[in-house]
Amino acid sequence: MSPKLGRGYTLEEVEQVLIDRHRINKDGCWIWTGAIGTHGYGRIRYEGREWRVHRLAAYLWLGVDWDTTPVILHRSDCDKLCINPDHLYVGTQRENVADYLARKHGV
Ligand SMILES: [Zn+2]
Repeated sequence: MSPKLGRGYTLEEVEQVLIDRHRINKDGCWIWTGAIGTHGYGRIRYEGREWRVHRLAAYLWLGVDWDTTPVILHRSDCDKLCINPDHLYVGTQRENVADYLARKHGV
């Protein structure tokens, strides 16, 4: 029986999965082609819980520290399945709401 059973991937494996499971679209987005969660974000199991893949991309490739930077945003013209670190940036919860409203109203 594997000691990893139920825990999902290690961080190294997560990085490899992120690299393997995306396709690049005409806008330069790295569109996640793996599992998708209920809110339309890519998801992956890591350390015993479900993660949104763009958050792990930011963690791996932007060096995000969860204690101080809890919110990862996509560029406004970007697909929410995108995991291109060049298209992700760190935001505040307030910006996240503003971004959501802007999208909702088609601004
Ligand atoms: Zn993108």
